[in-house]
Amino acid sequence: MSETIFTKIIKKEIPADILFEDDRVLAFNDINPQAPIHFLVIPKKPIATTNDIQQEDDALVGYMHRVAAKVASDLGAAESGFRTVMNCNKHGGQTVYHIHLHVLAGKALGWPPYQEKLKVE
Ligand code: AMP
Repeated sequence: MSETIFTKIIKKEIPADILFEDDRVLAFNDINPQAPIHFLVIPKKPIATTNDIQQEDDALVGYMHRVAAKVASDLGAAESGFRTVMNCNKHGGQTVYHIHLHVLAGKALGWPPYQEKLKVE
């Protein structure tokens, strides 16, 4: 896998607003936030896309979600709630080919089925 901007962030070659770090993962604020709270959780192990996750990565990917919840809690957004998204490839809107969990929070987020449901009830 070729190096991405996230590898540079892991290696501290470029700065990021880091919220959590340990030997397995890094969480940092998204540079182009789509919600009042928008951070990314990435594994230090480079995995290009969701399609490339192997069985040996199951625990790591689960851990990314647990870190997402921990950081959301640190930011006061666990109880009110948040959304996790992992975009995959072109149709998924992926632009950085090192898997990352988007964590969006800080307001009620739109979701088409929910909005549709609100209309009919
Ligand atoms: P995706 O489009 O799902 O691949 O998401 C990539 C995300 O990385 C986007 O939301 C970008 O705003 C974010 N991003 C790109 N470069 C940086 C950076 N240097 N620091 C923080 N976030 C970044």
